[in-house]
Amino acid sequence: MFADLHLHTNFSDGTYTPEELVAQAARNKLSAIALTDHDTVEGCERAAIACKAVEIEFIPGAELTAEQNDNEIHILGYFLDTHNKKLLEEIAKFQADRQNRIHEMVARLNQLKVPLRVEDVIKLANCRSPGRPHVARALVKAGFCSSLDEAFERFLKKHRPAFVPKTKISAQVAIELIHQASGLAVMAHPGLNRTDEVIPDLVDAGLDGIECFHTKHSTAVSEHYLEIADKYNLLVTGGSDCHGMSKGRPLIGTVKLPYQHVEKLKEAVAARSQLNQK
Ligand code: AMP
Ligand code: ZN
Ligand code: FE
Ligand code: FE
Repeated sequence: MFADLHLHTNFSDGTYTPEELVAQAARNKLSAIALTDHDTVEGCERAAIACKAVEIEFIPGAELTAEQNDNEIHILGYFLDTHNKKLLEEIAKFQADRQNRIHEMVARLNQLKVPLRVEDVIKLANCRSPGRPHVARALVKAGFCSSLDEAFERFLKKHRPAFVPKTKISAQVAIELIHQASGLAVMAHPGLNRTDEVIPDLVDAGLDGIECFHTKHSTAVSEHYLEIADKYNLLVTGGSDCHGMSKGRPLIGTVKLPYQHVEKLKEAVAARSQLNQK
């Protein structure tokens, strides 16, 4: 039995609807999945219903953007109470920031004589949590770039002319936000930015787990983070970070987390809820 605990839908920058994502999970014979859209839990209800119909275990989640010592860190929340008031209030702020950022990115592109229209990006994104991939897709669709990679390389990556940073919360605040919404907090894809020096601080802030398995982690990188998980007594997670058909080939099914890790996560979340009740 296998799980994929890092997936996106069109409620953020994935291309699949929750139902399409779950159909893909069933095709790949996954026993459990988590939905981890950027700064939103809106897709979770539909994904849960679709999972129930095909007997896949569903974990409601989200991926939050945070920072620690100037490093951008993504924190995954699992088993979130998707009705938690504080969580919903805070993610509404992140979403407003993302929407403003789209306008700023387009304004910068226009200054660079790329006449992309903000309405076209907003229409294409069609969600409350838009991001750079939507701008990239709009650039390709309008013929200003020939690929998503080109859009990121020329304009959207950090230090490129249309890059606009997000207002980020500290990793500690992200972890606390997840905990008060009954969730577990996990550091996403640590191998992508190799900022291992922040891990002890995150552990002190209450980090529960670390994403050892990820599409962009080599076997050696996964093993390195398994050792770190062992050292700090962290839960082990993994997922494909599938964004649907955004790059031609869906990644779901390429990372298969053994189900025993899901059992451990469930034990941890049960222990946390007992603690909260005391
Ligand atoms: P944002 O949250 O708006 O800063 O956008 C971050 C997202 O952009 C991440 O989820 C990545 O999947 C995506 N991304 C980063 N670099 C690239 C790239 N070169 N091509 C396509 N997507 C990318
Ligand atoms: Zn994304
Ligand atoms: Fe991420
Ligand atoms: Fe992601």
